[in-house]
Amino acid sequence: MRLSADTVRLDLIHPFRIAREVSDHKNNVLVRISDAGLTGIGEAAPSGYYGEDAASVLRALKGAPAMLGGDPLGLEATLDRLSSGLPGDPSARAAVDIALHDLAAQRLGVPLYRWLGLDSGETPVTSFTIGIDEPEAIRRKVRAAAGYPALKVKLGSVNDLEIMRTIRGETDARIRIDANAGWTVDQAVEMVDRLSDYDVELVEQPLSPGSPEDWRRVREAASMPIFADESVLVSQDVPAMAGLVDGVNVKLMKSGGIREALRLIHTARAHRMGVMIGCMIETSVAITAAAHLSPLADYADLDGNLLISNDPFSGATVRQGRLILPEGPGIGVTPRA
Ligand SMILES: [Mg+2]
Repeated sequence: MRLSADTVRLDLIHPFRIAREVSDHKNNVLVRISDAGLTGIGEAAPSGYYGEDAASVLRALKGAPAMLGGDPLGLEATLDRLSSGLPGDPSARAAVDIALHDLAAQRLGVPLYRWLGLDSGETPVTSFTIGIDEPEAIRRKVRAAAGYPALKVKLGSVNDLEIMRTIRGETDARIRIDANAGWTVDQAVEMVDRLSDYDVELVEQPLSPGSPEDWRRVREAASMPIFADESVLVSQDVPAMAGLVDGVNVKLMKSGGIREALRLIHTARAHRMGVMIGCMIETSVAITAAAHLSPLADYADLDGNLLISNDPFSGATVRQGRLILPEGPGIGVTPRA
């Protein structure tokens, strides 16, 4: 098997602001793995929060070819070697994992969701993200998102309630809140109370990872479900959050790819938790890979490709808010003209 990796610069339609950072572009890495006339494609969307960037991904991938082995269908063994060889590089591993799943499903001649035994009619509604902004800009973004029945609203700034009043003045859409660890425990307890006036579907990552007592206080004060994102990266993180949250946000870039994302989903279910499948700022490659898993999730937040102006691929699409999976073999993405 042959592996190549290239950086791709993604331009954001609007500068994207969450509780801890703002950005106007994102550098991701595309990985191609070829074997016997077929090529699988994968993507790394590294995040500084998890200690990665495009340069660290490229460095990590230099070691990957030696770990691939000779069997493109032998994913369990290959990905085990990769996770012990590159333990600190989850998005680099995700890129290789996605490319190998694409290659293997192409080899078998089926779309990835079929290989996983899933039903493309069972995809959930995906939300469209509204980043932190001034009221006038928020109003414009909410109007532009009128086709989406669910919005994910980023909070964790000084004007959270003003943002909520502005959005509810514009739309009756379902609203999921993401504080990206931006609140103290006292703020979070107050916010989950105030947010009950705004018909909120769930609140994601109100607090920084850690302090089970704080998480318990927030969950007890909340009338809506509380989900963990930054607190749960891989399946081993689930048991510690059991009883503290109602669900987890699964992302390929945190788990290191599809294989571990499946384990994480099943571990969450074993603890009677809800499942959201989410993303970073990504092209249609990583978004479509995640979309193939989405029939296993209660909620999807797979809009990273809709926030960029120069997506080099097409793949999964959104119709009336629901994810539509491509029917080609593998993950089924094609380059845009
Ligand atoms: Mg989140």
